[in-house]
Amino acid sequence: MATSDLSMLEGGIASVDRAVAGLNLPDDMRDVLVEPWREIAAGLPITMDDGSRKVFRSFRIQHSAARGPYKGGIRFHPNADQEHTKALSMLMTWKSALVDIPFGGAKGGVMVDTMAISQREHQLIARRYIMSIHHVLGVNRDIPAPDLGTNAKTMAWMMDAYGALNGYEQGIVTGKPVSLGGSYGRDDAPGRGAALVGDMAARDAGAMVDGMSVVVQGFGAVGSAAARTIQGLGAKVIAVSDAYGGLFNSNGLDITGLANHVRQGNPVPEFEDGDKIDNSDLLELQCDMLIPAAIENVITTENAPRIKAKIIVEAANQPLSSDADEILNAMGVTVVPDILANAGGVIVSYFEWAQNIQAFRWPLDRVNEELSRFLQSAYDAVSERAQSRGLTMRSAAYEVAVSRVVEAIELRGFLR
Ligand code: NAD
Repeated sequence: MATSDLSMLEGGIASVDRAVAGLNLPDDMRDVLVEPWREIAAGLPITMDDGSRKVFRSFRIQHSAARGPYKGGIRFHPNADQEHTKALSMLMTWKSALVDIPFGGAKGGVMVDTMAISQREHQLIARRYIMSIHHVLGVNRDIPAPDLGTNAKTMAWMMDAYGALNGYEQGIVTGKPVSLGGSYGRDDAPGRGAALVGDMAARDAGAMVDGMSVVVQGFGAVGSAAARTIQGLGAKVIAVSDAYGGLFNSNGLDITGLANHVRQGNPVPEFEDGDKIDNSDLLELQCDMLIPAAIENVITTENAPRIKAKIIVEAANQPLSSDADEILNAMGVTVVPDILANAGGVIVSYFEWAQNIQAFRWPLDRVNEELSRFLQSAYDAVSERAQSRGLTMRSAAYEVAVSRVVEAIELRGFLR
């Protein structure tokens, strides 16, 4: 990260500051919007497989419940510290508001390297985490979900741990296995959604995604679904990568074959379908659309001037530093912001929660149809505001989201 680039939290706050100014809100509203309503820090003591004891730092940050119960994933990662978790919790508030689902924003973090623990240790940490925070969770209070380092299996353990203390509640977490009340389409939703809003952005620019060249960084849950979906819309995915490096093929990669290769535990660059390329060169490839779907701050002031894509779809959370964002805007690059681009995950989490409450299951077609409808409506609100006020898509998205949260705060009379 270049030294002039803001941290994730500073970048998130800068976006709120711009929205507060753009909406002509009073300055004292800014602190109400930025400060989380509750921050929990808990040490999680675990007996490891070798008999030693370790304490893992963990957090649950409930940023805002103005528009509904707190909602947000739980990240297991060595860098998931309090500040990082706070930044991500705030992002969830804006994301839920922007796509107009009845949730607030929260995030969980456990500072652990999942590559260095066994499945048994992973399960113990998940259960201990829920024991530490269950008193602030609830189907109408705070509903966790998976994020980096956690998955459907983790959610099953968490649902079980919560149920042991409070009684069985399917809707207490989303992103569960389908056999335990998970929704069809939840796994693919963030990546599928990113591809769909990429298509909307292409149309808005008077182009067609059909025939476009697309580069995807990250080939996990989000990146692989984005690559598959955009290829299904007719685009040519010319490069993808994971933490081990990337693969480039100007004729388009075999995404289905690559997904099978990765599912078997193999690194992306070892697939025999193109030329190896490193992650930094991959971002700078000549292409129509770039989908960063791995980690944050991969495009900074350092490499932004060399980006050649015309459209960037932020499938990962905050892959662009806010200073890089300004450079790209000045270069005329359309940036579809994360709070819109990867909102498919929380939208289908909302569908899962609604299905659990009704004890009813929707077929996949209905999930995907409703997902498109929610995303199109959010995209239209952002695009209309961006065009009518001469704003970037990020500024427009934040203004739409922040104004909805402020309206809820005022209507509920929190500030009396
Ligand atoms: P994942 O762990 O399934 O996949 C991450 C991918 O990124 C892997 O292919 C990994 O090898 C790759 N990667 C890691 N470090 C990299 C690096 N330095 N350079 C290039 N590639 C690297 O995670 P995911 O669930 O796909 O999440 C990806 C991003 O999307 C994260 O920012 C996450 O917060 C965001 N997101 C996820 C969801 C969700 O529901 N899974 C929803 C919204 C946003």
